Amino acid sequence: MKKIQMVDLQGQYQQIKETVDTSIQSVLDTSTYINGPLVKDFQKDLEDYLEVKHVIPCANGTDALQIAMMGLGLQPGDEVITADFTFAATVEVIALLQLTPVLVDVEPDTFNIDIEAVKKAITPRTKAIVPVHLFGQVANMDAILEIAKEHNLYIIEDNAQAIGANYTFKDGRKQKAGTIGNVGTTSFFPSKNLGCYGDGGAIFTNDDELAHTIRGIVNHGMYTRYYHDVVGVNSRLDSIQAGVLKAKLPHLDSYCNARRNAARFYNNAFANNPNIITPTTKSNATKNCGQICEVCDCHVFHQYTLQITNGKRDELHQHLLEKEIPNAIYYPVALHAQKAYKDDRYNEADFPVTNDLIKNVISLPMHTELDNEQLTFITETINNFIK
Ligand SMILES: *Cc1c(COP(=O)(O)O)cnc(C)c1O
Repeated sequence: MKKIQMVDLQGQYQQIKETVDTSIQSVLDTSTYINGPLVKDFQKDLEDYLEVKHVIPCANGTDALQIAMMGLGLQPGDEVITADFTFAATVEVIALLQLTPVLVDVEPDTFNIDIEAVKKAITPRTKAIVPVHLFGQVANMDAILEIAKEHNLYIIEDNAQAIGANYTFKDGRKQKAGTIGNVGTTSFFPSKNLGCYGDGGAIFTNDDELAHTIRGIVNHGMYTRYYHDVVGVNSRLDSIQAGVLKAKLPHLDSYCNARRNAARFYNNAFANNPNIITPTTKSNATKNCGQICEVCDCHVFHQYTLQITNGKRDELHQHLLEKEIPNAIYYPVALHAQKAYKDDRYNEADFPVTNDLIKNVISLPMHTELDNEQLTFITETINNFIK
């Protein structure tokens, strides 16, 4: 059996080596390292793929979030609602911009931001909601759009984990994750579903004016060279990374399908285990069809995350490491309990789901190169340990 990896970047590279190498070589041959033609090419390709008017590439997914918030003109003291159970980058940039983070609980089945909790958190100072499409599944955008409309709030989609996912609205219409709110952001960190071979990120929007503002912000606040109209940042996607991404983008849908296939194998293998809850794939159109099928292309399985309900999550984590099965706890600490983001405003009673998830979740190997032998070994090992 091939050695099991959490993410198999080498195996994936070998499949596309020729195109990637040619892309990178063209940058070396022309020395167009910054803002070369490949950056523009990739931008255009991604706009077409996402069916969005503007893609603005930048240096990483954290910058993308920060720049999106700067572009919307959010001001110190403005309250921004986001999920308590996610990677810290989202709350980090809110805090860095001296906005007020308002962390709320998540849904027990999808791990995405809880709609009732969002409603409860709204005050006259609330300016934006940042749904994070966690582990590859799009949050309940029908409901979030309704709330935003009612209270006149911006929506910034943190789409770092769900690029390629489709959201199906109540009326059956579909739209790509990250293009539904006022602005969406993503990361091209190597392990993401569309990853480069270094750092990278992008911002998406259908709003021409916002796109213009953001294009200046990423480039030192310049709209005309050496005329600085606003305080900006320096955040670029370099040409080599753009070349890698341009080579990989045509494979994104098949990558997402490979992930869904692995998820389907896992789901079937754990279906009868009373102490394991498998991830729910759910969209408003299908509610919970319980399957990973075409209609559930709302989930692209950036992570495949189980809940272990018999209290043996930590023992399983150790056991799998002994068996050389990589696994990870995403995430071990609720953001509201992190030293950097603690605040007297938070009440433990408001976070029952997150407080439960941090004790029970475990993420299994998930990538495009998992084979049946590996998946069989992983699932049998787990089913033998958790009964
Ligand atoms: C990876 C990630 C980010 C940050 O992306 P970087 O490119 O590492 O800065 C932000 N939000 C979420 C949900 C992520 O998973």
